[in-house]
Amino acid sequence: MDNNIVYLLLGGNMGDRKLLLSQAVGLIGDKIGTVLKTSALYETAAWGKQDQAAFLNQAVMLATPLSASATLVQVQEIELELGRARIEKWGSRTIDIDIIFFNNEHIAEPGLTVPHPHMQDRNFVLVPLAEIAADYIHPLLHSAVAILQKQCKDTLEVNKYVS
Ligand code: ADP
Ligand code: MG
Repeated sequence: MDNNIVYLLLGGNMGDRKLLLSQAVGLIGDKIGTVLKTSALYETAAWGKQDQAAFLNQAVMLATPLSASATLVQVQEIELELGRARIEKWGSRTIDIDIIFFNNEHIAEPGLTVPHPHMQDRNFVLVPLAEIAADYIHPLLHSAVAILQKQCKDTLEVNKYVS
């Protein structure tokens, strides 16, 4: 039974970004659960460090029988499989997959914080997420994703990616 509803945010700024995102979604379907919704692709200038290539981001909703920690293990395997090279904090990477929401759960473990603690501060998370989860209520902030997006002070532009 696929019991848990999970929202992931995928991103990358190296290599064939679009291909890597579609490969990641394929592997998520193989290893984690049933992909129910995917947002469009969005492009954002690099956050934190501006001297690097722009990111492509995509939000994904899925249902999975796995626990949150088992989901994280699979996510990290997918990152490795797609050849993620971690060069520096906030540095370039082929693919980064973050768990944004896991059901309505609040998880605070060494190595796993859910909801993702910075999601409400970043347009590159909120814009794709709002496309597939506008009404989803943040379990700690008690606001819908669409409201968090309106309130967000982030000035980085997020543009729908067409190619
Ligand atoms: P970041 O996503 O912050 O750019 P990483 O992808 O390298 O950086 O993640 C660093 C660590 O963040 C991972 O080893 C993982 O254990 C931890 N982590 C904590 N909470 C989460 C979450 N909600 N989703 C994904 N990783 C998380
Ligand atoms: Mg990450």
